Amino acid sequence: MVQGEVLGGDVGEHPGVGFLRQAHAEAVERARAASEPALLLWPTHPVEFLLAGQEVTTPETRAAEAHIRLHMPEAALRRVEAERAILADHADVDGRCAVCAEPGAGGRLGWPCPTVLGLARAWGWPGADAPTA
Ligand SMILES: [Zn+2]
Repeated sequence: MVQGEVLGGDVGEHPGVGFLRQAHAEAVERARAASEPALLLWPTHPVEFLLAGQEVTTPETRAAEAHIRLHMPEAALRRVEAERAILADHADVDGRCAVCAEPGAGGRLGWPCPTVLGLARAWGWPGADAPTA
């Protein structure tokens, strides 16, 4: 996704929320494209790292394998599903978050709340205060 790109979504939707919804849609599309036709390409056993044709296993390769597994299609789909549930919980109710309370004031935080915007930033949204190119 190109920063500053016009994204789909509801008219008048907050740019961070639009960015998040688009990031989720793209992640799902890529994960499905990567897993459906060639599931067997993904490792089910320890990932092999080769050095000069010889398999090597070191703490560094084990760390790299753990990192790779975090980004496998099923892991990506699981994260998107969980984040969509968080987004649904933190729904827009008349311009306020459905669940986030304003500290001390007893009211609800404005929407999108910091939780929703934090999810968007995790996917690369630069934030509302970021300079535009
Ligand atoms: Zn919230």
